[in-house]
Amino acid sequence: MALKSWLEGRWVEGTGAPSPLVDPTTGAQVAEVRSGGADLGAALDHARRHGGPALRALTFAQRGAILDGLAALIHANREELIDVSRTSGGTTRGDAKFDIDGAAGTLSWYGHLGKKLGDRTFLLDGEAEGVLRSKRFVGQHVLVPRHGVAIHINAFNFPAWGMAEKAAVAWLAGVPVLSKPGTATCALSVRIAELWVESGLLPAGAFSLLTGSIGDLLDHVGPQDCVAFTGGSETGRVVRGHPAIVRHNVRVNIEADSLNASILGPDVEPGSDTFQMFLNDVTRDLIQKAGQKCTAVRRIFVAADRVEETVEALTDRMSRVVVGDPGEKGTEIGPVASPSQHRSVTAGIAELEKVAKVAWRAEAPGGGCFVTPTLFRADGADVPYVHEHEVFGPVATVLPWSGDADELVQLVSRGGGGLVCSVYSDDLAWAGPVVLGLAPWHGRILWGSAKVHDQSPGPGTVLPNLVHGGPGKAGGGEELGGQRGLSFYCQRTAIQADRGLLDRVLGKA
Ligand code: NAP
Repeated sequence: MALKSWLEGRWVEGTGAPSPLVDPTTGAQVAEVRSGGADLGAALDHARRHGGPALRALTFAQRGAILDGLAALIHANREELIDVSRTSGGTTRGDAKFDIDGAAGTLSWYGHLGKKLGDRTFLLDGEAEGVLRSKRFVGQHVLVPRHGVAIHINAFNFPAWGMAEKAAVAWLAGVPVLSKPGTATCALSVRIAELWVESGLLPAGAFSLLTGSIGDLLDHVGPQDCVAFTGGSETGRVVRGHPAIVRHNVRVNIEADSLNASILGPDVEPGSDTFQMFLNDVTRDLIQKAGQKCTAVRRIFVAADRVEETVEALTDRMSRVVVGDPGEKGTEIGPVASPSQHRSVTAGIAELEKVAKVAWRAEAPGGGCFVTPTLFRADGADVPYVHEHEVFGPVATVLPWSGDADELVQLVSRGGGGLVCSVYSDDLAWAGPVVLGLAPWHGRILWGSAKVHDQSPGPGTVLPNLVHGGPGKAGGGEELGGQRGLSFYCQRTAIQADRGLLDRVLGKA
């Protein structure tokens, strides 16, 4: 099956050499993509000329109703999408649901926000303030949708959620979307795009999909466009430094690698609720999506004198994990998503074997894109490879540490900035400074304690109402965060004028 792009309001088959897409469980080819041939400058123009004006003419409530409709479509076709996810991405049923339900859930969440924002077409930011000492001459900040295209470049690991979460925010802001999924798993994004297009819910030009490689897309960006990228930090650097992006000062958001840390507080006793929460969260992150989550824990910090019992508890929990065919009931870890992912994770595991011991390792089937899920254990916390390299699979390393809270924060910050960090402690005096000390280095922190031990989806779950992104190595970006996310697609403008005139123009009078 040749996967097509949806550009300028029609399905376009690429030209040039085909790239095969395989079922990672069997290695059999399931589809192909050809990257050449499309006029991407014309595709962006089409979106700017048709999609932008159509979306801007709608109120937030109307845009929100579209998002609700798109979410309902995903939900109504859930079983088919789960199958596509398995055959094109090697996901277990649970992993496919995580991606697909995440997509529908985020669209619905922003649909609901649209309803709440109501009949407006743009946002006010704060209250009007007096200019100098005048009561009549005031300044009011507004957030108006930009007149460009939201160009979304996504990673392979969330072909449904990644596409939907970015698009939901841009559409609610009133900006058309051109989405480019990661090629290896794009069959699921293409199927969702087909459902959206067939439904006719979106105005013409509001949505475009580019399958295959990026081509010369970024050569055609203009000053009103926004580029939101998710992927590896090296690719992120290329995107940020693209000459057309630099020339036009195009707004860019980068979501990249992250050496997410999980910290077990010295006060936490084995068997306690907080300890169980830590175990659940860490093992879930190793298992879920075969560890291919940007938010998955990679570094597990445990006080040196507690390492033995903690590793024992973790390995005991992991010993029952089933690795195998994701289509079989009971399988918890499937293959990684593609042959290139297989090469990268296998190489990362080989590097970790040089600097840390294997604490636990699962048996994995041969063939396909199966890797060996492994929990490593280092002798100390000073292991540069562990702090610097993300092995994007079912792999994590336990790092023993000793010292005070400041030293711990220093150690964690060797990851260079992360998406999320989790801290497990019931000791307010210890955990408070650790959480606040880690905050400048992270976009999100989960503080697990006995009071919330049974209420958390874990640090690996990105939520629409909380920001997603992190400083430094994690890309320096920020997405979602409820209404905050809309500002990326809007221009914040301070309008200075007579209060009465302004109130009437802004719909306040
Ligand atoms: P990747 O190789 O960097 O690719 C990401 C996207 O960029 C893909 O759509 C890719 O297209 C595209 N791309 C490749 N070269 C490009 C270029 N020169 N200009 C513009 N776009 C280009 O990353 P990946 O392997 O898909 O994803 C894995 C990485 O993503 C991991 O490191 C993970 O940590 C990170 N990630 C981060 C987050 C987050 O929210 N922070 C979420 C998920 C994943 P092709 O697929 O066609 O090459």
